[in-house]
Amino acid sequence: MKKNILGNTGIEVTELCFGALPMGPLQKDLSVEESAEIVAYALKSGITFVDTAQMYKTYSPIKAAIKETGIRPVIATKSTAASYEEMEEAMEEALDEMGIDYIDIFHLHAAKVNPDVFDIRKGALQCLLDYKSKGIIKAVGISTHNVKVVEAAAERQDIDIVFPLINKAGRGIVGGTEEEMRAAISMCRQNGKGIYLMKVLGGGTLLDEYSECMEYARNLDCYDSIAVGMVSKEEVLYNVKYFNNEKDLDDIIKIKNKKSIQVLQGACISCGKCIEVCHNGAPSYDHTGKSYIDQSKCIQCGYCIPECPAFAIRMA
Ligand code: SF4
Ligand code: SF4
Repeated sequence: MKKNILGNTGIEVTELCFGALPMGPLQKDLSVEESAEIVAYALKSGITFVDTAQMYKTYSPIKAAIKETGIRPVIATKSTAASYEEMEEAMEEALDEMGIDYIDIFHLHAAKVNPDVFDIRKGALQCLLDYKSKGIIKAVGISTHNVKVVEAAAERQDIDIVFPLINKAGRGIVGGTEEEMRAAISMCRQNGKGIYLMKVLGGGTLLDEYSECMEYARNLDCYDSIAVGMVSKEEVLYNVKYFNNEKDLDDIIKIKNKKSIQVLQGACISCGKCIEVCHNGAPSYDHTGKSYIDQSKCIQCGYCIPECPAFAIRMA
């Protein structure tokens, strides 16, 4: 599989990055053993880059997969921590739970925030910079859905890597259009940032247009890697073959993941937390006063699931 260097960092990664979000409790909620098997299969299939997050709760299977295969991939993780102390705790948690002594990329996890994230969370950012100077993390990044944050990151010397959301439908992009996001990513590229892309399949909602979505992303010419969430060995195999430019994909189980985020309306207590947390405007109250998710707006990020006090939001 093609490998690229992430911007000016010197970190080499495969064009395909294993996205750990969907196998974890925010989405498919596979067991640690099942998840570890899938990660191990991905590593043995040649993927050298794994993206996770404190919030995804998938450190244990990554640790188990490294132990089983003896392969240490490039690992990117992230935290929504705001203060120095909270970020330090997040860092220690990542090192400890993955059984590693350094982290390749640590992002400010900033999916839903505005460009003032760099001021509001300056303590957390300073912690990342200090740990980078100690060699415990190799690169500092930001993961975001917001065009304005990508534009701001392009101008900052302290950000090495940007992990932006983009897809051909523009689904889930905030603070601008798909075209503006493309321009912002290009600006990051010109300024030497490492770029890897998230949600090129719209969080799974564009799977029926897999080839078109991937072609769109791979033609962007301003990325080093593309993170794709995977929840089975079949999906790993399909993606690896696709990124190896193999042509016999008809023989492989076609990825047709029909999962969606749903509200169990009987359990909904109409607290509004899902409406508040979702930056895509997908949940709203229906005529009964219960929450309902508009599937055309949902990118299946799963961020609303832990916010629901009634455990009424599920991936079905
Ligand atoms: S409804 Fe939930 S899963 Fe869907 S985009 Fe909003 S926060 Fe993400
Ligand atoms: S967070 Fe849960 S309980 Fe609150 S409105 Fe949404 S679905 Fe209903």
